[in-house]
Amino acid sequence: MSDRPPDSPKQAAVPGWQPPRVTKAAMGGASPQVEVALADVRSKIYPRSVAGVFARWRIAMVYITQIIFYGLPWLQWSGRQGVLFDLGARKFYIFGMVLWPQDVVYLAVLLAVSAFALFLFTAMAGRLFCGYACPQTVYTEIFMWVERKIEGDRLARIRLDESPWNLRKLRLKAAKHFVWIVIAFWTGFTFIGYFAPIRELGAGLLAMSLGPWQWFWMLFYAFATWGNAGFMREAVCKYMCPYARFQSVMVDDDTFVVTYDHVRGEPRGGRSRRVDHKEAGMGDCVDCSLCVQVCPTGIDIRDGLQYMCIGCGACVDACDQVMDKMHYDRGLIRYTSGKAITERLSQSQARKRLFRPRVLAYLAVLGVIVVGFAIALAMRTTLRIDVIRDRGALGREVAGGQIENVYRLQIINTSEVPLEIKLSASGLSELSIVTADHGSEYVHVEGSSNRLVPVVVRAPASDMTPGVHEISLLAVARSSDGSETSVAEKSSFFVPR
Ligand code: SF4
Ligand code: SF4
Repeated sequence: MSDRPPDSPKQAAVPGWQPPRVTKAAMGGASPQVEVALADVRSKIYPRSVAGVFARWRIAMVYITQIIFYGLPWLQWSGRQGVLFDLGARKFYIFGMVLWPQDVVYLAVLLAVSAFALFLFTAMAGRLFCGYACPQTVYTEIFMWVERKIEGDRLARIRLDESPWNLRKLRLKAAKHFVWIVIAFWTGFTFIGYFAPIRELGAGLLAMSLGPWQWFWMLFYAFATWGNAGFMREAVCKYMCPYARFQSVMVDDDTFVVTYDHVRGEPRGGRSRRVDHKEAGMGDCVDCSLCVQVCPTGIDIRDGLQYMCIGCGACVDACDQVMDKMHYDRGLIRYTSGKAITERLSQSQARKRLFRPRVLAYLAVLGVIVVGFAIALAMRTTLRIDVIRDRGALGREVAGGQIENVYRLQIINTSEVPLEIKLSASGLSELSIVTADHGSEYVHVEGSSNRLVPVVVRAPASDMTPGVHEISLLAVARSSDGSETSVAEKSSFFVPR
């Protein structure tokens, strides 16, 4: 029994009833539940199909995520693949933006944005990401759809698995695995299409001329998809996903999670539709077990919130159907907070409590990072120079009474248009700068490329005090569309004695 007093007299009549609570033990960490569950890690779950609002949301999310995932690498942008993480060339192309290794900070900020968004959504609505957008859920949904189409729904699948091997079973299993492998293979191909140009990859695949690493990663990712979505399924969410464990620190009694309304539902039990169950002292739960049968992780939400619950809402849809048949109000299982159940809050009261200090803090931090990120991206310069001092030749006097210093300029053009760059130097009177090879002030750098340019900086020797002087090297780039970008770097000019 719970150590809490029952919330209603009805519960007192239910031996062994545990009111649902959001506790650290329930949401993660080692518990006796985990140890028992580990023992039956491979007892197969046969989720029953279900229709309803949340099932439609899950299907919509499958379409949205997969159209993006499979479609994105095929999009072209300025004559190249729109999104390409070219690890070999160390450049990430994201539509009009080219990120270089020096831009790794933008990726770090992007990761921080994703992390805070995850914290925010979890604090507000639990494992919403797991139930609708996580690749494990999405591919399991796709693979289960294929399984249902070929082998039938829950009972048909159980019977098929229990039946001895015969031609029909062999045919059905072979057909299912064939479709699974095609999907898994296409997923693996698409995945590496984000790291190597997908059109060339497709041509290489047709000609069977891919390199060994391309084959390895494609087959590895295909195998992982087939294994995780076809066999591991809920075990990944229950035992392998770290998010299931650390979400406990982000979820509290005000978080909206899939919750069984035990105050309304208990005492549970079968009854005839003609019986007035309230007069008979019964709750709204008819104990049909449909909520358990549709659960992809095989749990009974009536036992309270558990870390294995991925918040998919399948049990909500199933129970609403039962409530409709019984002519009871919907929402015996619903998305709401633990407090809303125990304190009998209305949905609008519970929703207002979503915006508690922790959520507002996450929102504020996320807002600051996103705005800062947008400003940094907008102000990002497409031209960079690094000045490398030639330490072998510190400075020397040359003909014409000039002091000469030699530098190497690493000029990086991160835009996709060629740039005509004019070099100049300042910091000392009558400084001049020219390229060492052509004696020109101008340098041409192709789009998305860099050039190492040796340059010579000269100044009149007269009136110069020996020693080190600070100077600035300036690069002004004019692109073909007439726009101008400039960048300056400090360096030192050495005057010998
Ligand atoms: S589906 Fe609803 S009525 Fe049926 S057992 Fe689950 S909670 Fe009770
Ligand atoms: S308990 Fe309900 S919401 Fe949680 S995983 Fe099972 S079906 Fe999905």
